[in-house]
Amino acid sequence: SYRRGGYHAVKIGDQFAGGRYIAQKKLGWGQFSTVWLAYDTKDEKYVALKIQKSAAQFVQAALHEIDILSAIGDGSPSHTKFVAQLIDHFKHTGPNGNHLCMVLEFLGDSLLRLIKYTRYKGIPLKKVREICTCILIGLDYLHREHGIIHTDLKPENILLISPINPSRDPLSTGASPILERPEGSISPSPSHMEKRLKRRARRMSMSLSMGRGDSIDEYPKRNIEEIDVRCKIVDFGNACWADNQFTDLVQTRQYRAPEVILQAGYSYSIDMWSFACIAFELATGDMLFNPRAGQGFSEDEDHLALMMELLGKFPKKMATSGAKCKDFFDRFGDLKRIRRLKMCPLKKLLVERYKFSEKDANEFSEFLLPLLDLSPEKRPSAQQCLQHPWIKDIDYAPFDIINNGNSLENLNVGMRNLQIAVGK
Ligand code: ADP
Ligand code: MG
Repeated sequence: SYRRGGYHAVKIGDQFAGGRYIAQKKLGWGQFSTVWLAYDTKDEKYVALKIQKSAAQFVQAALHEIDILSAIGDGSPSHTKFVAQLIDHFKHTGPNGNHLCMVLEFLGDSLLRLIKYTRYKGIPLKKVREICTCILIGLDYLHREHGIIHTDLKPENILLISPINPSRDPLSTGASPILERPEGSISPSPSHMEKRLKRRARRMSMSLSMGRGDSIDEYPKRNIEEIDVRCKIVDFGNACWADNQFTDLVQTRQYRAPEVILQAGYSYSIDMWSFACIAFELATGDMLFNPRAGQGFSEDEDHLALMMELLGKFPKKMATSGAKCKDFFDRFGDLKRIRRLKMCPLKKLLVERYKFSEKDANEFSEFLLPLLDLSPEKRPSAQQCLQHPWIKDIDYAPFDIINNGNSLENLNVGMRNLQIAVGK
């Protein structure tokens, strides 16, 4: 991918935007971009530098993402705290072409890393409620103030405000930023470097990358209770205005709403579906739906079957109205190619498989089930969810901010303050 039209190869110490930003280390990558920790010499702070691939379609996508990010950066300040902030953007010309670059506030690990940190056992419900609150405030802001649907909510796209491991945080380690290329050392190209790291990782029987196979061994044993779990929504590369959608096939498979699979049209409520999938995954460590194609049925059909096993039959309107309905359902609303379903309601699943107490299972499923309504128009909005007792009855700072704009400053914890708050 490091070829014409593809990623821009970055070396530590490389300068961007006429020397304002200096690359420090790679933070992650996605389909369209690599993301680097960079030092902003003008404002003297760390930032995340997202460098897009250079082919025309990626430039187009970046321009769109910049549009969305610029729009959402411009809103009531208390709410913008729950979505990633765009600081700057510019064009960078390299051997592979012209790359649009976005400068974003530097954030911590993703929720996926947090889930891995628990060795896929799930995090305490109190923390799940706190994280859910942040996501809901962010979603309510996107949906109601901007008319934007994220369309790709998943644990990878929600980042904690600071890293789980404080030693990964350039602010808490106090190390001074790299201001020029390390002398005498010509860094190998990232692809070469990645190959080497991959080999090493395999040897140590762990795998590299920010992806699902990421190692958890590198994390110190730190009580999950100590981690301040405030988080923000990132990655607006696929976001759209509700009244200007450009594609039918949205969302990452496991977090995809039924109306998207059935091609029955979609709106804000697809984000609410993904949100419920994320909440379940945080609490249990397992994906709510992880469909596979099998003999005689497709991944889509398995996905619909998993939904029906958990939530019951599709309402007639849903089973007949989408462009794909005839492919999947017979005239009785049963799946054509998967005949026997093993029904397992959510509450039972939580108690039997995940050993939730009756009380926890009751409360959690009461919160989740309305969000997992197979009829999109029946799902509660983010605003309504914020009023649900499971969320509302917790003693949690972001609420003060939302309910009382005056205490905005309380939330204005930069990463430095946060480290202090966590006692590091
Ligand atoms: P893509 O659109 O290519 O998927 P993302 O915006 O999701 O790109 O970024 C890819 C990865 O880079 C993320 O999963 C995350 O690990 C890291 N990342 C993105 N933005 C930030 C940020 N603001 N601070 C820290 N890391 C980030
Ligand atoms: Mg992403």
